[in-house]
Amino acid sequence: MTSPAPYRRHRHPVTLTFVWSLSHQDGQPELTASGTCPVCQCAMSRSFGPVQPVLAKGGFLGRREQPTGTLPWNTSCQCDGYHQPRPENRRGCGAMLTVTAPPAHLLQGS
Ligand SMILES: [Zn+2]
Ligand SMILES: [Zn+2]
Repeated sequence: MTSPAPYRRHRHPVTLTFVWSLSHQDGQPELTASGTCPVCQCAMSRSFGPVQPVLAKGGFLGRREQPTGTLPWNTSCQCDGYHQPRPENRRGCGAMLTVTAPPAHLLQGS
């Protein structure tokens, strides 16, 4: 691709299947979702710390009681593409993505 897609903040309507992996940072479990952003077509990954809420951003559903293994997780696009005009403290193309929940065995693998 020649020029990156412009930065645009919007929610992508499709739940994506990303690859989840579990690593440890300073002894704390860290879940990482990796995949391709469907909006800008860049590869991206997003790490969630050990206490990351299920709905990271725009948690308007407020359903913390629900088992974490079933709800999809939200993330914004975290790619390294140069998408402009973009607010300073942001990464990615501005897309809000929903990814399928990590497999249960990763959630328990602390
Ligand atoms: Zn991108
Ligand atoms: Zn993107």
